[in-house]
Amino acid sequence: MTRTRNENREHIGAMDVLRRLAPYMRRRWALIAGSTLAMLAEVGMRLLEPWPLKFFFDVARHSTDRRTTGLPFLDALSPAGMLTACAVGMVLIVALRASASYLRRVGFALAGNLILTQVRADLFAHMQRLSLSFHNKKRSGDLSTRLTSDIGRLQEVVSTAVLPLATHALTVLGVIVVMLFIEWRLALVAVGVLPLFWFSTQKLGREIRSTARRERKGHGEMGAIATEALGSIRVVQTMGGENTHNKRFEGGNLSTLKEGVKGKRLAAKLLGMADVFIALGTAIMLWYGAWLVMRGDLELTTLLVFFFYHKNMTRPIRNIAKYTGRTAKALASAERVVELLDTAPTIKQDPDATEAPEHIERIAFENVRFGYEPGTTAIDGVSLEIPRGTVTALVGRSGAGKSTLMNLLLRLYDPDDGRITADGKDLHAFTVESWRRRVAVVPQETTLFAASVRENIAFGQPGLTDEQIEAAARVAGAHEFISRLPDGYDTAIGERGCTLSEGQKQRIAVARAAVRGSPVLVFDEPTASLDNANAERVCRAIHDLSRDRICFVISHDLRTITAADLIVYLEQGRITERGTHADLMRADGEYARLYRIQTGTGMPREVVDA
Ligand code: ADP
Repeated sequence: MTRTRNENREHIGAMDVLRRLAPYMRRRWALIAGSTLAMLAEVGMRLLEPWPLKFFFDVARHSTDRRTTGLPFLDALSPAGMLTACAVGMVLIVALRASASYLRRVGFALAGNLILTQVRADLFAHMQRLSLSFHNKKRSGDLSTRLTSDIGRLQEVVSTAVLPLATHALTVLGVIVVMLFIEWRLALVAVGVLPLFWFSTQKLGREIRSTARRERKGHGEMGAIATEALGSIRVVQTMGGENTHNKRFEGGNLSTLKEGVKGKRLAAKLLGMADVFIALGTAIMLWYGAWLVMRGDLELTTLLVFFFYHKNMTRPIRNIAKYTGRTAKALASAERVVELLDTAPTIKQDPDATEAPEHIERIAFENVRFGYEPGTTAIDGVSLEIPRGTVTALVGRSGAGKSTLMNLLLRLYDPDDGRITADGKDLHAFTVESWRRRVAVVPQETTLFAASVRENIAFGQPGLTDEQIEAAARVAGAHEFISRLPDGYDTAIGERGCTLSEGQKQRIAVARAAVRGSPVLVFDEPTASLDNANAERVCRAIHDLSRDRICFVISHDLRTITAADLIVYLEQGRITERGTHADLMRADGEYARLYRIQTGTGMPREVVDA
């Protein structure tokens, strides 16, 4: 058993899926138990259904002989009365079966929907918890396809195929038992073809499943392409990239079509094979039955009733063939869902991790090393201690490791070596979720949601008062322009915030960070897209905010960070200079040189980045 995890995933079977879903099913046990009872009743009634036929035939054949049924209350009736009783019995059985079937269908559909809705909610929450190194490798469009269409397919198939499949399998088993009871020799003949049928469905089922797997992958691919293309529609349109995306999308679309058609073809083949096997079984059974009747070893009525039971078995068999195809497809979707659910968040957290403290006096990086991929280095032995009430500016060329250092602080990644502490405690001692709530980030590119300005500022912080939101907007220098919007704080922002300028978006993001009251703030290029007046306001806001917090500012524009309490100059993941602006100017190193370029000759930023 040395198979790797990945190989195992290829072989996620129905049982694995069931095991993974078991906790969810346990929560709905009452509904599932009730539906199962209805299913058993349905199967029982289906087994009873042909029984009155025997009485019809017997009464018709021996209408003069009154003791033929073996049931005293029926034997006491006149032949006409008996026939009526049989007819009423027949309708009653069907009516009961129909009611049980209704309850079973509704019950299972409800259970299936409730369970998968919960799975979907958990999957979404889980996906958001997975580390960035996972998200870097997976494409968001593919992930949302799993969340929506794979779970949707599971939801549909569980209630319309998997559960009926159980009913049909049970019916076939029941019918076999009854047939054995009526005439065992005939039963053995009729059942003889079933193993052949079973093997062929298994084989075709596997093929359908791998086809479906490729089809689902294609769907995920299309989802990913669509999300990427539409998410960067500005770039696509300005760069004329539509055709490239069209071609990639078309590729995914075509392969999905191909696999989809192949799946349908295999399913049709399965059904056709089922028909042939059924005909084969029926023919052999009738041949042998008629032979027995001819020899006087079997009553004709028994053969007739047997024939009806056999017919009752063939429909579920046909359905099994039909549903095997659908279930195989569902399994391909289930694999994709289970694979995601089983991906463990890679960010470390002590087993007895506690809530991170609300007040933090000091953050320390202790000889931190980190690389995104094995063998690479992005942070190379950084040690840094920062007290509360200060602004620390991280500067350096592009790729120096500024963002990486902040990613580590946010626990989006774990250091490979060394540690980061808050008041002397390793961050692993805190739950990831509580720690991230303590660090508010104003990212370089602000993502606004299709909601009101107020909701955007309060994002992730339920229960804020309007005053708190407005105060945060004032600190961020956003109150003025928000008041001028058509509906003020209630103005709806378009998807991805298309209706606001970069500067306005930035200030909403600053307000969003301010309102969180987090003890640690990280600003990633807060002034990059702002004009001088706005940049100055934001800088002032940052200093106001830093009074009782720990603030980090990543900046390329050295003019905006001269007032910082500590400036850290990074080069290739190492701190090469540190101190106040005055200290660093005196030291006359790389920082001073860059500062002079930016202020003295007014070189554009691109030159500094190069
Ligand atoms: P800065 O923020 O100073 O511009 P970064 O922290 O973004 O620099 O990058 C530091 C180094 O890590 C660079 O060499 C960069 O190429 C690399 N890097 C950044 N992000 C990733 C990533 N997601 N995967 C792999 N390498 C990365």
